[in-house]
Amino acid sequence: DAVVLATSPESLDLVGTRLNSSASKLAIEEKKPVISSPLKSVTGNLIILLSHPIYDKGGNYIGYVGGSIYLKKHNLFGDVLSRHFFKNNTEISIVSDDGNVIFNNDKSAVDRPMVMSDDLKSKLTASDRGEGAFFSSGHRYLLGYASMKNTAWNVLVYSRADSVTTILIAYAKSVLVLLIIIIIVFSLISYFIASSISLPLEKLAISTNAKDIGASLVYIKAINAWYAEADRLKKALFTYIKVMMERVDFLNEVALKDPLTGVNNRLGFLSKIQNHKRDSGYSVIVIDVDFFKEINDSFGHGVGDEVLVSLAHIINSCCRSEDVVCRFGGEEFVVFLPNTSVVTAKCVAERIRSVIESTVFPNNLRVTISAGVATQDDPLGRIDFLLKNADDALYQAKREGRNKVIVYSAI
Ligand code: GH3
Ligand code: MG
Ligand code: MG
Repeated sequence: DAVVLATSPESLDLVGTRLNSSASKLAIEEKKPVISSPLKSVTGNLIILLSHPIYDKGGNYIGYVGGSIYLKKHNLFGDVLSRHFFKNNTEISIVSDDGNVIFNNDKSAVDRPMVMSDDLKSKLTASDRGEGAFFSSGHRYLLGYASMKNTAWNVLVYSRADSVTTILIAYAKSVLVLLIIIIIVFSLISYFIASSISLPLEKLAISTNAKDIGASLVYIKAINAWYAEADRLKKALFTYIKVMMERVDFLNEVALKDPLTGVNNRLGFLSKIQNHKRDSGYSVIVIDVDFFKEINDSFGHGVGDEVLVSLAHIINSCCRSEDVVCRFGGEEFVVFLPNTSVVTAKCVAERIRSVIESTVFPNNLRVTISAGVATQDDPLGRIDFLLKNADDALYQAKREGRNKVIVYSAI
């Protein structure tokens, strides 16, 4: 019978009051959940009544429990809708089907008809959801709406067209920033991948420019060719350079050695002494076989060759490993003795001469040699100067009867 039995808060002081509002009457008549239209409550507030029927154990209707939403005061609509995404630039209204505003941030607009064109009004009633535009206070607004099935309410979200543009520009800007970040990250990743692919290739290319081929082999070995193609390239280059080095070594050997005796030829001699040139106190011995022509003439060139081989062997065996023995041409040998005084060099030459003198060569041949010794006294250390001096001493030995060692003296 619409009498209030209990309230919360109790301060409402409504217990015992009979409610005459249409909403209360409707709730009792319908005996089912009801959401009312806005109405003035007995306490004078503009409210919406939400009610739910109550039945006793026997299933008899005994009344309803109702709650009020205070439309003109702070309410749950505000709490929920203030969390709306576009709250700073967008307004939200809840409008009943008859066009009255139920909720708006501006409380003075509540319980008044929403200002909108007939066109928009008919659109709202015709469809459950949609969008449109309207003019208000000289500004164009863009609007989206949806109707709520369980109530006779429509939710309208609208914003000034220019602020929508601002939002779109801000959105476009943030998309652009994101895009630039993605491009930069992608570029960095691409750069990293590309450079890690090209790095071994670049190193291989650099290795081919190395002046020292031996060092380039070490360099190539250290390259991290982490993928199959680069690894194949690395191995191919490594093998190629190694084979090339072996061939060059072989050709060097051939080019720098005398093929008959196996000692250095003139080129090998010059290239080997290059390293010794700056050393202090070196000497040379120039050796020439005495009357070698006669051996050739008497026994033939073949025997002459054999004698030359034996002579090279004897000269080598009388020298230290650091001495450089060379067949300078014909039956003439030169020995370069690094860090050796003229006295020592003369001793070495004398030893060579005496060993050869006492050696019996094939065909019972006896051979003697003459030798000239000179030591470095050219301030510029020119080897040709030194050889010339030793040669002068050698010719003096020849003049003085051969089978002799003469030390060059400047006087
Ligand atoms: P000397 O005591 O004045 O040095 O007399 P020699 O006969 O040794 O000097 P000469 O310059 O007259 O002759 C050198 C000879 O050496 C001439 C040449 O036939 C010979 N000869 C040069 N190269 C070779 C070679 O490779 N093999 C042989 N078997 N003989 C050579
Ligand atoms: Mg000669
Ligand atoms: Mg001779």
